[in-house]
Amino acid sequence: MLLELSHVRKVYTDGARTVRAIDDVSLQVEAGEYIAVTGPSGCGKTTLLLIAGGLLRPDAGAVTLAGREPYRLTPEQRTRFRAETIGFVFQQFHLVPYLSVRENVLSPVLAWWKEGLDRRADELLERFGLADRRDHRPAELSTGERQRTALARALLHRPRVILADEPTGNLDADNAAVVLQTLRDCAAEGIAVLHVTHNLAAARQADRVIPLQGGRIAELQATLASGRE
Ligand code: ADP
Ligand code: MG
Repeated sequence: MLLELSHVRKVYTDGARTVRAIDDVSLQVEAGEYIAVTGPSGCGKTTLLLIAGGLLRPDAGAVTLAGREPYRLTPEQRTRFRAETIGFVFQQFHLVPYLSVRENVLSPVLAWWKEGLDRRADELLERFGLADRRDHRPAELSTGERQRTALARALLHRPRVILADEPTGNLDADNAAVVLQTLRDCAAEGIAVLHVTHNLAAARQADRVIPLQGGRIAELQATLASGRE
């Protein structure tokens, strides 16, 4: 088992309002498995990814990723573990504006440099059609080029798991297809893929669809029967 969430809960307290964003979710993902997480806005998808990625400590429950429990590591160990184990891709790209494309691709591993990473960065820039954009800043790129930069950054360190939060949400059809193909290729190479998406093609190419509703995993049949998603 590459990724395991066991009875995970997260409550946000926002003034007088409390939100059960994730309410007793258990999930197991194998290496090479492609999971699509779907559900209406506010159902807890992003919270689930952040918890899985070691970025948000759950109030209860356990997370195991690649044999480690990220929330039992020190903050320094957890940061390094994330950088070496997880590739993140976001709807809003989250590139560093003052770094070039190539520097953005290399940015997660600068603190833990390994031989050959600069060569791998150049291969990925080539693969994603960014070789002639390598010295540009994100502001000078199209949205598709920005997301392809983020894909190269996510893949640089050969992650065990990809966590993608609506990565096609801002893209045209051609670039969305590149993202979907890349995630499918990742799963074929043995990477576990957790893909939050509203994209039907993404749900269709997934091995499994996890429908979230109100912070819980809904029954797929019930979800279809009620006509949602
Ligand atoms: P989704 O990604 O499916 O849209 P989120 O995980 O972002 O859902 O949010 C789940 C619920 O938690 C929503 O009701 C949202 O308003 C609430 N929420 C998310 N982040 C916070 C936060 N930092 N503080 C308070 N409430 C939050
Ligand atoms: Mg979200």
